[in-house]
Amino acid sequence: MLKYIFSLIMVVGLVTPAWAQLHIVATLPALGQIAHGVGGSYAEVHILAHPDQDPHFVPPKPTLARHLARADLLVAAGLSLEIGWLPPLIEASRNPLIRPGAKGYVDGGQVLAEVLGKPGGKISRALGDIHPDGNPHWWLDPLNGVRLAYQLAARMGELDSAHAPVFEQNAEAFAAQVQTRMADWRQRFAALGPLVSYHDSYLYLARRFALRIIDFVEPKPGIEPSTAHLDALVKRLQRGEAVAVWLEPYHDGRTVRRVCELGQVPCLIRPDVIAGDGFGAYLGLFDVLAGKGGR
Ligand SMILES: [Zn+2]
Repeated sequence: MLKYIFSLIMVVGLVTPAWAQLHIVATLPALGQIAHGVGGSYAEVHILAHPDQDPHFVPPKPTLARHLARADLLVAAGLSLEIGWLPPLIEASRNPLIRPGAKGYVDGGQVLAEVLGKPGGKISRALGDIHPDGNPHWWLDPLNGVRLAYQLAARMGELDSAHAPVFEQNAEAFAAQVQTRMADWRQRFAALGPLVSYHDSYLYLARRFALRIIDFVEPKPGIEPSTAHLDALVKRLQRGEAVAVWLEPYHDGRTVRRVCELGQVPCLIRPDVIAGDGFGAYLGLFDVLAGKGGR
């Protein structure tokens, strides 16, 4: 009998973690890495966008809605970043738990201390500006990543109260890791000269680490540059006003390569995420951004 009970405990012990896991869906890899770090073995995280996809324009394939259908929690960047593709996926998932406003929906844009880059004037998404609510690339400030981690720990704790202390501890440990690395990052970013970037992706990074981004290849986020804009940009580069042009892998193209060639500066690929799981991958992103390499 004792043997039977022991076997039963063993079986229950093996099966329970799978039942207990929260199903979390993150729109973007960096958000998924943070969710994975907070949830540890008590969460299964699925990420909708690939690391090499422009987060503004992810094709809303039906397979992505299937992941949302079984999610307990959805974490999005917010600030209209995913507006072109996430709402139809939420609709198609028919999952009331993860609708905006529900307990299972975390909007990263709402946990920020400050939203940067709110547009002035009458420029709107309808006119082509894809940052109508302010700049949504906030995860490129590691302290914003920490804010998200705490928010996720609180929300996961509500959904799985038995493991709330674990989620809280994981978020605390992450915050401590970020603090440990800040001084090194500050030093390395300070050594970089003024830059031009393709898209206005690095605003939060620049604010946190006093990086100087003097101009953009896109005249407004999401708007293709005119020849006159590119000519003016090349002249600034030729005058030595910036040391490099930063671009994400999905912005690479002949136009920007030509700008770098004429401006006699390197075009450096600086991604908004690196492959990998958990906090380690998220933190590694800042090492890559602060690095000197590129191509
Ligand atoms: Zn953008």
